[in-house]
Amino acid sequence: SSVQVSVLGLGAMGSALADALVKAGYATTVWNRSPEKADDLVAQGAEAAATAGDAVRASGLVITCLLDHASVHKVLDPLSRDLAGRTLINVTTTSPAESRELAAWAAHAGVTYLDGGIMAVPQMIGQPGSSLLYSGSADAFHQYKPLLDLWGTSTYFGTDAGLASLYDLALLAGMYVMFAGFMHGAAMVAPAGVTAGEFAALATPWLTAMTGAFQGFAAVIDGGDYAVEGQQSLHFSNLSSLLAASSDQGISTDVVAMVQRLIQRQIDAGHGEEGFARIIESIKQPG
Ligand code: NDP
Repeated sequence: SSVQVSVLGLGAMGSALADALVKAGYATTVWNRSPEKADDLVAQGAEAAATAGDAVRASGLVITCLLDHASVHKVLDPLSRDLAGRTLINVTTTSPAESRELAAWAAHAGVTYLDGGIMAVPQMIGQPGSSLLYSGSADAFHQYKPLLDLWGTSTYFGTDAGLASLYDLALLAGMYVMFAGFMHGAAMVAPAGVTAGEFAALATPWLTAMTGAFQGFAAVIDGGDYAVEGQQSLHFSNLSSLLAASSDQGISTDVVAMVQRLIQRQIDAGHGEEGFARIIESIKQPG
């Protein structure tokens, strides 16, 4: 490819991203604060830049994969003049507000900005199941899509640079609460002599099958009628037996009690005959 690309930040993730570009034949310049992290990539054919400024000036497309928002500013603030007229794709994890701030900073410096969120671990880059979320410049996304697709499935959400991060964090929120649910179940059976591994063997197919319920809940939520036929009611979804069994096992009830509170608020508001999907109202309107 005739595209010249520079990657700033060669931690676990940045190295994986740069490696995919080098392997695909892109003229790739790399830079890292600790320079030895470039060695493997240089052996594969990447060009090492002595300074971040050299890396920026080497390419029309600059990719940053640094620790956090502050480190991106630390590296790029002194280089705004060099970046002018180039495209910056920042895949460092940032909050929506931080992404919007970087987009404004880039606009002020005359830099085309695309923000990315990586839904993968480094070993997954370029493999099936790897997904990257983007928002910001539509031109940058479309121009560089063939390159971005080397890392995983690329999805673009719109010109608001904060959107990719918002989706990223929303997906992580779902993941962490699901993980906590798994941990709760494992803690519940542990006093019965069940190992976490044995429980995981049961929980994996069960929770995988249960993800099939998401679209059904979504249809109810998007339809705007929580009383539509064919749902499990909030009364039926009472988790008191789950709470009691957890207490009997001598474990914390925090995880289950949190869900029970969301259910109870809707029952207390008179919606007990309506469907379980209604607990989203307890979340949308903090009590
Ligand atoms: P690492 O800790 O492996 O790498 C961090 C990188 O940031 C290194 O290149 C480090 O340089 C650099 N860095 C940190 N602070 C500064 C600074 N002040 N100035 C210059 N460079 C700095 O992290 P990852 O590679 O795993 O993660 C990078 C980004 O990717 C993060 O935002 C992370 O959230 C995101 N991400 C990572 C995933 C993962 O599974 N690893 C998954 C999804 C997103 P040095 O080598 O000199 O310390």
